[in-house]
Amino acid sequence: MAEITTFEIGYCTHIGCMALRGAGLRVCKFPARAYLLSIGERRWLWDTGYAQHFQQHTQSGIFRLYRHVTPVHFDPQASLLAQLRAAGYGAGDIQALIISHFHADHIAGLHDFDRLDFICSGEGWQQTRHLRGFAALRQAFVPGLIPADFESRLHFVEGFQQISLPAQLAPFERGYLLPGSEGQIMLVPLPGHAAGHIGAFVLTAAGWTLLAADAAWSPSNYQQMRGPSALANLIMKDVKAYYRSLQQLNQLWQGGGADILLCHKGDL
Ligand SMILES: [Zn+2]
Repeated sequence: MAEITTFEIGYCTHIGCMALRGAGLRVCKFPARAYLLSIGERRWLWDTGYAQHFQQHTQSGIFRLYRHVTPVHFDPQASLLAQLRAAGYGAGDIQALIISHFHADHIAGLHDFDRLDFICSGEGWQQTRHLRGFAALRQAFVPGLIPADFESRLHFVEGFQQISLPAQLAPFERGYLLPGSEGQIMLVPLPGHAAGHIGAFVLTAAGWTLLAADAAWSPSNYQQMRGPSALANLIMKDVKAYYRSLQQLNQLWQGGGADILLCHKGDL
């Protein structure tokens, strides 16, 4: 069975109602999480959280605005790489890094993993790779966070085998089988939040878990079908698709077929 180890790598702060309509003006903490997925001796990373490279690439120019909009708290001693080392993992222990989407708080640490393959949505990368300046900023994409040899190490989920998902994961029906995962990790599109935004169903000893990345920021988003503030729609790729994905999470949650983990679940 697969195991999921959760890491928190920095956090940002926002007023609550940005993430959940009606939550008020209280300033809330939104941790940035990454996960280590293990099946026997095979391991994959899911996102990176913040990293020093984020500070570096948002220090000047237009990307400084990013920091003003989302004040970031990050301890360089607690990067994902440092936390993995402290847990006893070396570079050779991990097969690949799966990118849920290209927002900076999910890819800030890519430069720290210079030997890993990367996995993402091909559609997402096609829509993101050319973005620069304000167009990039609007999609929370910081081009400097992408390693120079990124594309030569990249695998697209669309190239993986498509399979039917177990009935208990309804309304999700089809997924992409992560190669080498023995049917225990299936990647699924969760469109709307960002270009090519994906999630993953992971079969653990406790049952199925959906890594839902940023398809919601708070469980209340899908439990009460209460989205974020209209302001947050500005950075969303496709608001209608976001609410369709949220509806899918709502149905999955109601059916009880899987636990749902959110990258930024905080105290909301
Ligand atoms: Zn995001």
